[in-house]
Amino acid sequence: MPQRSSRVSSHWLLLLLVLSCCCFPGLIQAATIIHAGRLIDGRSDEPMLQVSIMVEEGRITQVVRGYREPGDGDTLIKLTEHTVMPGLMDMHTHLQSQFSKDAYTERFFMDEADYALRSTVYARATLLAGFTTVRDLGDNGTNSVALRKAIDQGWVPGPRIFTAGKSIATTGGHADPTNGLKGDYRRDTGPLEGVINGVDDARKAVRQRYKDGADLIKLTATGGVLSLAASGQNPQFTDEELIAIVATAKDYGMRVAVHAHGTEGIKRAVLAGVDSIEHGTFMTDEVIQLMKEKGTYWVPTNMAGEWVADKAKEPGYFPEVVRPKAAAIGPLMKETFKKGYAAGVKIAFGTDSGVSPHGQNAHEFELMVEGGMPPMKAIQSATLEAARLLKIEQRLGTVEPQKVADLVAVKGNPLENIKLMKDVVFVMKDGTVYKKP
Ligand SMILES: [Zn+2]
Repeated sequence: MPQRSSRVSSHWLLLLLVLSCCCFPGLIQAATIIHAGRLIDGRSDEPMLQVSIMVEEGRITQVVRGYREPGDGDTLIKLTEHTVMPGLMDMHTHLQSQFSKDAYTERFFMDEADYALRSTVYARATLLAGFTTVRDLGDNGTNSVALRKAIDQGWVPGPRIFTAGKSIATTGGHADPTNGLKGDYRRDTGPLEGVINGVDDARKAVRQRYKDGADLIKLTATGGVLSLAASGQNPQFTDEELIAIVATAKDYGMRVAVHAHGTEGIKRAVLAGVDSIEHGTFMTDEVIQLMKEKGTYWVPTNMAGEWVADKAKEPGYFPEVVRPKAAAIGPLMKETFKKGYAAGVKIAFGTDSGVSPHGQNAHEFELMVEGGMPPMKAIQSATLEAARLLKIEQRLGTVEPQKVADLVAVKGNPLENIKLMKDVVFVMKDGTVYKKP
């Protein structure tokens, strides 16, 4: 009896195999072949010309010189007049919002569901601009966690998100949600909302972010430009608080990104062992040296500086407590970028989009090149370097066999004209094409 049943089942298996090959030829996976006129692979300093990239089941399987002919059933994507690159990565976005004159009051009229739904529009714009991966560095609580899920499930198109959830601040600090409000609205806030005072609060706030589903921790080590508070640069965390946050984050496998403008706040954060400094406006030579020793990444966000300084010229655009900070920061950031790049701090690409409009992220490349960075280095900062900061360089950040198939392309040569980065015409994420010429 046992012998007979195994013979029957093996016959069935054979029949199924024959049927599936005859009736469902789609089950034999066809490849997508991309003919790239020029390939910037994220790793080499020189581009490769006339390359074929094979993509199967969401992965890059081969990268070969010359234009390989497609086989039966394969899909050919011709990008022979284009430059193909790894999917771009923006290490500093806020997909929940986009700054406008109404930004300070919209919270009184918008539910969390409104924020979450609107963020899908910003996510789509970001993806179609060529950014297939982002870090989201601060929202009201869990909107970006919900957005990450919606994108991962395929409910809405958007970039792969690594989110910090709500930024951790101290009372009255940048990202204390009730700063600047009147009377009752200016209520006490605590670690559940990411506002801490002392070491116990610090640990609790990190654990709460973990519980909320965040991937990493963001904290605001100094004052900030857009918060309704006087100082844009004072230190706002003690050494003990910073050390407690970094140690707790490490326990949970989370990295720590730090908003910091003023020198003292940057210095404390770097010494506490954080992974990246965002903005870094008043970075001194001493701090630069320290960051190099510690291997701390810098995410300069030139765009945010330029954008707020521009808007500060419009009378009445910002509240009076914000305007002078906004006006001053743009030129400062520009100078710091030149100095920091020349000194060799590790730079990962980031825009602070959500301050400036979503989908314009690639303008940052232009500002980086203006600040002395060669176009190839600027592109690498948004591919392999960003992947290293996220610790995902084993699967993303370069165009190499076995990597996830995140690929984008622009027409022409961005190494000669960096402005071309602002016109991404081809976007593939996880092997799915979202945009093509
Ligand atoms: Zn930000």
